[in-house]
Amino acid sequence: MREDILLSGPVAFLAEEMGIAPSERLLAYQAWWETEGWPIALAIDQMRTPHLRQFSAQGERIDEISYPPSYAYLLSAGYSAGIIAEVAERHDLRLSYALGFITSYYDPGLYCPYTVTLSTWAPLYKYFMGQRREAFLGILTRREAPFGQGATWMTEIGGGSDLGAHVHTMARKDSGEAWRLEGEKYFASNVGAELSVVAARPEGSAPGLKGIALFAVPKERTGGGRNYFVRRLKDKIGTRSVPTGEVELRQSEAYLVGEAHHGIYYILEVLNFSRVANAVGVVAHGLHAIAQAYRFAQQRRVFGQFLVEQPLFRAEIERHYQRLRWAGALAWLSEQWLETVWLEKPPYSQRYALFRLLTHLAKFWTAQVALEAAHWGVEVWGGLGILGEFPAERFVRELMVTNIWEGTRHRHLLDGWEVLQRYNLMDVLPTLWDVRGVDPSLLEDLSVALQKPLEEIALQIEPLLGRLAQAIGQITAEQRSYSVLA
Ligand SMILES: Cc1cc2nc3c(=O)[nH]c(=O)nc-3n(C[C@H](O)[C@H](O)[C@H](O)COP(=O)(O)OP(=O)(O)OC[C@H]3O[C@@H](n4cnc5c(N)ncnc54)[C@H](O)[C@@H]3O)c2cc1C
Repeated sequence: MREDILLSGPVAFLAEEMGIAPSERLLAYQAWWETEGWPIALAIDQMRTPHLRQFSAQGERIDEISYPPSYAYLLSAGYSAGIIAEVAERHDLRLSYALGFITSYYDPGLYCPYTVTLSTWAPLYKYFMGQRREAFLGILTRREAPFGQGATWMTEIGGGSDLGAHVHTMARKDSGEAWRLEGEKYFASNVGAELSVVAARPEGSAPGLKGIALFAVPKERTGGGRNYFVRRLKDKIGTRSVPTGEVELRQSEAYLVGEAHHGIYYILEVLNFSRVANAVGVVAHGLHAIAQAYRFAQQRRVFGQFLVEQPLFRAEIERHYQRLRWAGALAWLSEQWLETVWLEKPPYSQRYALFRLLTHLAKFWTAQVALEAAHWGVEVWGGLGILGEFPAERFVRELMVTNIWEGTRHRHLLDGWEVLQRYNLMDVLPTLWDVRGVDPSLLEDLSVALQKPLEEIALQIEPLLGRLAQAIGQITAEQRSYSVLA
């Protein structure tokens, strides 16, 4: 482990371990976070759930979320740095995700508004050809205030994993290009967004996943007035710097994105962006957790020595650092693959299937590695780790949320397994990286298990896909071969 990298912050890790050049912009953004952003982010977390102001003084329904003014300042930093605009103008996903890595090092909750704005922009850019196209895209890509934000609302009260069974929001064709949506979304992050993409069922469509279409829903109706309503805000253990609420769609004006029967593909594309962001972001936050633990250990004395000098401590932090490094390599590999497939449209290539496999592996494994690292960090702080006035416990709270949203561990294991099976990826996997470093039994064990019914091998999926995730991350990191699969 390079202690200088660990203690220098996210840009040094990106540069030295992930091969991403430390540009002036990244360094300035990190410096801003270090001096101004982080204290604001910590204060927002301490203030817990913001207030929902539902009515104006005149009694009109406004549904405004009352964060302190410093929140708008915090949020503006990423938009001004180009976290969305650089993708829209130059398709520079790498820069966007690098800015996201820095954001998430300090505050994974704040990375959510940027991520969902990007994943609202992408399907509109690719598939929305209606009259409002330029207006919609323009809302989401401003570099200066007032920023227009996006949001991605799929989940309803029945559950988020099985959207085919639980999306009940109905869509009815209205006049011109407009549709009307009626329903409720139970987990709606970045609630208050100017423009959201929402999953709904056009009247008469097929049951299950095939009948779900994607709609763009502006905050304001044509002619004025709220187009969706916020029933309440969620009181969350972490990610408090993004407001998550329950949304009521009441004859809400909406515009169909692309073709109705391709809705589920578009939803998966939305998730591609946010899952890669989650993978990249949790590694950053886990890294911050162990950096804070290291700083604490430098000044905490135990049994006549500083904790940082104790062999057991040194061995453990080394282990967490290396695992985060491998997790980082896997996350950035999936980012690189996203760069090469994000403009694909259905029917997709086998490359797209490989990207999906990488992203399922990256989402579940990075979340686990980062959460374990943060949990260990709390232990390093001993009893102080449990106290709200020290920084350690917040890392765990944040990373518990990022472990669940964007799909739980089970979902990624099962979906990753399905992609492996359906697209015969075992045939191409060994050609994708230098197999000298891979435990030869891994590919064999995978091939054998893939032949068996799920009931028989259910408990093997996690160890097998965990080994695969680690092997890809480790080899990529050791060979510094981030583009080996590209
Ligand atoms: C803070 C926060 C913000 C969120 N923001 C948004 C948002 O903006 N937009 C949005 O659409 N959603 C959002 N979500 C919802 C999120 O995507 C879901 O919570 C997540 O997908 C899991 O769905 P669920 O909570 O309904 O759990 P469920 O789908 O009900 O799952 C319950 C449990 O069953 C497990 N499970 C599911 N299928 C299987 C299986 N086949 N075998 C074994 N176990 C299985 C799951 O892994 C989980 O452990 C948010 C969630 C949180 C916590």
